[in-house]
Amino acid sequence: MVSCPDVRGCAQARRCDTAVRTVPAAPFTSPLAESLAESLLERFLRYVSVDTQSCRERTSSPSTPGQLELGRMLVRELHEAGIADAALDGNGYVTATLAATDPDAPVIGLIAHLDTSPDAPGAGVVPIVHREYDGDVLELPLDGTRLDPAAIPELVAKRGHDIVTASGDTLLGADDKAGVAAIVTAAAHLAAHSELPRPTLRIAFTPDEEIGEGATLFDIERFGAVCAYTIDGSELGELQDETFTASEVIVTVRGVEVHPGQATGKLVNALRLAARIVAALPSDRLTPETTSGREGFIHPYELTGGAAHAQIRTIVRDFDDELLERHIELLRATATEIVGAEPRARLEFEVRPQYRNMRHYIDRVPYVVEAAEAAIRAEGIEPLRGPIRGGTDGSRLSEMGLPTPNIFDGGHEYHSVREWASLQDMAAAGATIVRLAEVWARLEARDVDARVAG
Ligand SMILES: [Zn+2]
Repeated sequence: MVSCPDVRGCAQARRCDTAVRTVPAAPFTSPLAESLAESLLERFLRYVSVDTQSCRERTSSPSTPGQLELGRMLVRELHEAGIADAALDGNGYVTATLAATDPDAPVIGLIAHLDTSPDAPGAGVVPIVHREYDGDVLELPLDGTRLDPAAIPELVAKRGHDIVTASGDTLLGADDKAGVAAIVTAAAHLAAHSELPRPTLRIAFTPDEEIGEGATLFDIERFGAVCAYTIDGSELGELQDETFTASEVIVTVRGVEVHPGQATGKLVNALRLAARIVAALPSDRLTPETTSGREGFIHPYELTGGAAHAQIRTIVRDFDDELLERHIELLRATATEIVGAEPRARLEFEVRPQYRNMRHYIDRVPYVVEAAEAAIRAEGIEPLRGPIRGGTDGSRLSEMGLPTPNIFDGGHEYHSVREWASLQDMAAAGATIVRLAEVWARLEARDVDARVAG
């Protein structure tokens, strides 16, 4: 059992050394990763203390001012690292350029997002570093939050790692500040080591990714990279070039509202009809809680309204575009049948496409993924390939013309108060970026043009 009795003490010291050290420290993936680790951790702890939670009711970019605060901090740190053109634009995007050691190599991009999820409390994050995790339940000091390896299988493999958590009442923000810290640390390392080969690296930190807007105001032309990598995955070695294809469906039912005292034979209750639609959808399949791997789902996540008017907001997901269409048609047929049986009710069915499986675009440029695999292997890690049951900035950026697969960053249990990250794995992500630079530096731009053109 590792517990930290005094959250305030930890906040000041930013270390929790109350663990009884019964297991040996876990090794780093390489001496490079080890050399990056402490500065990466310092950056990470600094970044998570800024509240950058985005807000779904977005009226400007970024949706919240904390993202600008983190953006300014990152610009300062990139300047200190010698990256002179680092800048924050009016929409909350940070960009920076690390010039190539070999000007003939193609320009590649590194991307992470500034915001944290609106789905768990994000203000007042007090991180705790549990050095040399002993493999037991991690009890956090607030709200009875516990990280139980019996429920979190990834944690079992992290005995001896330095695990960072929040204090139990907030998310941690490893999604995606682990990615931001990995990129800044790797860029500072490369800037200080001109003997290490690298192509021109374009860096971007995006706002509002968690509310699906990270790519919205991204200027791909100005970014000027042939491809990019988001550092926004999870488990060590993850490399993802496939996301859901995603649509939102808004089902609106209009009824006839009459005073219930005079309603006999007149009232048509929209809320009851909407509830029947939700109840009629499959519950033993095609739901997020009954599917995994490559299976898609229909997920009604909000039902609002009254007798006159009710609305069901639903997200529909699949890796296969045709199956996605079938799920949408099932929802449409269900709603049409139920509402259609009541001639005085009206149905509106609106489909809003959100993003498309990035594989359609990345498959055309296989070298982009091969280079990432080579970099992960160069760091001594076996790449873990698999689809993401969600989207990333890369989903839309790939569609917009910038092929952008996703690389691990070492964080887990995202969007929850149990969110945690392994320092050893975050450092491995930083080291993988340095290796990725080397892989791309070996290529001449014209070779890549040929390979990208397929
Ligand atoms: Zn993320």
